[in-house]
Amino acid sequence: MRLILLGPPGAGKGTQASGIVKKYNIPHISTGDIFRKNIKEGTELGTKAKEFIDKGLLVPDEIVVAIVKDRLTEDDCKKGFLLDGFPRTVAQADALDIELKKLSYNLDKVINIEVSKDELVKRAVGRRICKECGATYHVLFNPPKKEGICDICGGELYQRADDNEQTVSKRIEEYQNKTQPLINYYEKQDKIVNIDGKQDIDKVYSDIVNALGGE
Ligand SMILES: [Zn+2]
Repeated sequence: MRLILLGPPGAGKGTQASGIVKKYNIPHISTGDIFRKNIKEGTELGTKAKEFIDKGLLVPDEIVVAIVKDRLTEDDCKKGFLLDGFPRTVAQADALDIELKKLSYNLDKVINIEVSKDELVKRAVGRRICKECGATYHVLFNPPKKEGICDICGGELYQRADDNEQTVSKRIEEYQNKTQPLINYYEKQDKIVNIDGKQDIDKVYSDIVNALGGE
């Protein structure tokens, strides 16, 4: 199974990615992870990428594409892969198509987890975190037994500064503006599978598995 996973921040993409790679026994290729690995190992590409990251700049497409390309040529990708965090732009998607063709790999599906901005705002704004142990709660969906107090350790719960309506809305809008052209791109290739991410985690997961052909 060769897959791409798309979804806005807060849509539960990480949880779904873990389930998918386990079920299909394929590597989870997260660009964040492979960047960190390349930087840690001091590879040529990692060193180049680090120069941009250290300056607070976006890593140019050619470096991102080269790093992903390297990863895709590793043996474990012969059985498939789940790309997460790449491609982010149509230019990257074009570059990926070219690399996949060279490797004679055919992309199966692009899973697009859809959650509305209102829902994502509601999720983020209600999030509470324990100051002591880091446990997370939600005032609506997963409230602590005693308001403001951690069930596990009795620590005080707090709200992260960027879990506010304005910051979250802006983050989601940026994501949607950047991602829509990519969705259109894969719609034209008839690869997009839209998944209703507003449902509970297990239902989202079973919808994904069904969309990929079930069992
Ligand atoms: Zn706690």
